[in-house]
Amino acid sequence: MTQKHPIILGAHMSIAGGIENAYLSGASIDCTAIQLFTHSNRQWAIKELSADTIEKVQAAQQQTGITHAVVHASYLINVASTDAETRRKSKNMLHMELNHCAALGINFLVLHPGSNPSIEEGCKLISEAINETFEKNSSKVTILLENMAGQGSQIGYRLEQLATLRQEISAKKRIGFCIDTCHLWAAGYDFSDHTGYHKVLKEVDSILGIEHIHAIHLNDSKQKLNSQVDRHANIGAGTIGLEAFRLIMNDPKLKNIPKILETPGKELHEYAHNMKILLDLVKS
Ligand SMILES: [Zn+2]
Ligand SMILES: [Zn+2]
Repeated sequence: MTQKHPIILGAHMSIAGGIENAYLSGASIDCTAIQLFTHSNRQWAIKELSADTIEKVQAAQQQTGITHAVVHASYLINVASTDAETRRKSKNMLHMELNHCAALGINFLVLHPGSNPSIEEGCKLISEAINETFEKNSSKVTILLENMAGQGSQIGYRLEQLATLRQEISAKKRIGFCIDTCHLWAAGYDFSDHTGYHKVLKEVDSILGIEHIHAIHLNDSKQKLNSQVDRHANIGAGTIGLEAFRLIMNDPKLKNIPKILETPGKELHEYAHNMKILLDLVKS
């Protein structure tokens, strides 16, 4: 498969029928980056990957030439939970997720920080869990904390909260960030025009450091700015609008960061359509 565009762009790919299919499907619509789950994201049961699975994924990686892959951790994980049993299961799953990434040769694991009515207590539990997990898994796999919309008692909807979490983690080289445009908008950051965009980007850089951002989720939003509601929309079909995506796609500071769609239509042609909209925004 040839890669027709130099921009690191792709989408979240299904692993139905085998993890390797995420690579094969991605390549079929010219993704140069993909995101995937490594297991069913709605079940607590998780086991180590078989040698056969690992071999098939490595073959697909080589065949497609897709080197920018990130794993998204299960939505069930909440290491900040007030419930001890949920915390225990979450820590176990986080550990397994890191093992999966290491086994597949994928360097990045995107993680929702977690939910807890007390931000202080939640942050403490999250950093403790990540520190523990890193002690048990000595690979180079980096956890990317994703910014959240701020629904319920989600932690990480303010950039400062993500920065605080990173500060508390001992293995600094193994902790970075993933920025989701829909979540950022829902959390009240207005980057929809030139002035707003540059203000928000400056904030992102001074609080998180652009060098620590290793993935960007490109999603428009069905809900309004500062709604605290997480509803992804197709690019240009939501309330953020195309100008923001034009600014992102043409920003040299973000050029080397993989950009990944998590738009609502999960069919390949729907992702391809969103990718085309984004690529058409790039100034040649
Ligand atoms: Zn996410
Ligand atoms: Zn996301």
